[in-house]
Amino acid sequence: MKLDHIGIAVKSLAALKIYKALGLTVDHVEDVQTQGVKTAFIDVGDANLELLEPLSPESPVAKFIAKRGEGIHHICFRVTNLESHLERLKQQGFRLINEAPVPGAHGCRVAFLHPSSGNGVLIELSERIE
Ligand code: ZN
Repeated sequence: MKLDHIGIAVKSLAALKIYKALGLTVDHVEDVQTQGVKTAFIDVGDANLELLEPLSPESPVAKFIAKRGEGIHHICFRVTNLESHLERLKQQGFRLINEAPVPGAHGCRVAFLHPSSGNGVLIELSERIE
């Protein structure tokens, strides 16, 4: 299991300017309707930063920003066999937001664990479809 990306909630993708000023490049921009966000991925080596701009006030990311302000929103680990991880975590009593994979950016299948099961950290698991 490897760190895939760190998700950062922003009001607007204009927030990319600091990363561009740091000399980083945006390599992928995509609307992810299932999460209600426009995402921008910044390549930082083995992992990425994922900036998340809400597509509507109803987006979970809009609610996150209203409650906690902009900032780090989640961390994502890349896995294989996502269902087996979800099944095992559920059996161990961890709370899941998604009990089954949902479509994520890059055509990945993703699932979020509840932050109450991550000591306040929202954890995403992502499986790439080759
Ligand atoms: Zn993510």
